Amino acid sequence: MSRSTLIDELRWKKFPVLNDGFVCLVDVMGDDGAVVQAARVSYGEGTRHVSDDRTLIRYLMRHRHTTPLEMAEVKFLIRAPMDCWRQWIRHRTASVNEYSTRYSIAIDSAQTTAPGEWRFQATSNRQGSDGLLSDEVGARLTEAEHRLQQEARRVYQERLEAGVAREQARKDLPLATYTEAYWKIDLHNLLHFLHLRMDPHAQLEIREFATAMGEGIVKPLFPLVWEAFEDYRLGGMNLTRLDTGVIQRLMASGAKAPYSDADFLAAQDPVWKEMKRSRERDECREKLTRLGILAPPSGG
Ligand SMILES: Cc1cc2nc3c(=O)[nH]c(=O)nc-3n(C[C@H](O)[C@H](O)[C@H](O)COP(=O)(O)OP(=O)(O)OC[C@H]3O[C@@H](n4cnc5c(N)ncnc54)[C@H](O)[C@@H]3O)c2cc1C
Repeated sequence: MSRSTLIDELRWKKFPVLNDGFVCLVDVMGDDGAVVQAARVSYGEGTRHVSDDRTLIRYLMRHRHTTPLEMAEVKFLIRAPMDCWRQWIRHRTASVNEYSTRYSIAIDSAQTTAPGEWRFQATSNRQGSDGLLSDEVGARLTEAEHRLQQEARRVYQERLEAGVAREQARKDLPLATYTEAYWKIDLHNLLHFLHLRMDPHAQLEIREFATAMGEGIVKPLFPLVWEAFEDYRLGGMNLTRLDTGVIQRLMASGAKAPYSDADFLAAQDPVWKEMKRSRERDECREKLTRLGILAPPSGG
């Protein structure tokens, strides 16, 4: 498929997210070739024979030579609930223009939660969620959500009808209310955003938006960059000095892999030994289990 056909197919195509959100491509400047072209300015013609485009892009990604990635830009139109948007807008390296609820009536749509979608507060991570509430409890919460959203909208409408300024009438609309924005960002900062927001530690809702953008739009537009991004960022793992120390002590311990949790605790960093709870130790344990160096926890 030619580049222009691909762009025509993607442009304005709404990738649905949550109950009424979406992301779509508005415009794109540059492609894998634009990244390569910029990189070749620094490496010179000589590299043309040594490394093909794919190898060069993979080199840039591995060595964090990032400015060639800034040569491409992507503009999106996004419809997201305001709580999600609040996380999104923290990414300062994008240019944004958002729907104004001072100027226009707020979008009459709010993010809703199905009975089977209510998540428990995680106990291990204060910022996260873990597991689902029962459908029975969920049904009650969903019904209450519906009533709350209806009432908030009714009060908003009542204020508008009484002549209250839109800028003031909106103040009690729930964070679930959808907003829309144009969001333009260069490819380097877009990948930074996707790396943070496609990560399992990001909140599920924004993760769904980021995944739709990444998989649905960025991947087909920049296939070589995306492949390198998957290999070195999304699928990569950061081992700290402390993590590598644990691995070295495990290997020197004489025990056999996959190592037990007792082996791990014996080989842990001396600083962690003093601590009853350590997030860093838990994260190290997670990484080593993922690599198959530690035996999976019993029952899991
Ligand atoms: C899982 C998760 C949990 C989070 N929890 C919280 C939280 O509890 N509270 C909270 O407030 N935020 C939280 N954040 C937001 C986070 O701290 C960042 O603000 C957000 O992810 C944007 O990242 P960024 O600054 O790297 O991105 P961008 O703003 O896009 O910036 C990209 C890069 O540009 C550079 N840069 C941009 N602006 C500046 C500047 N002014 N000075 C120096 N360098 C700059 C930095 O290198 C930066 O990494 C969380 C984010 C994630 C992913």
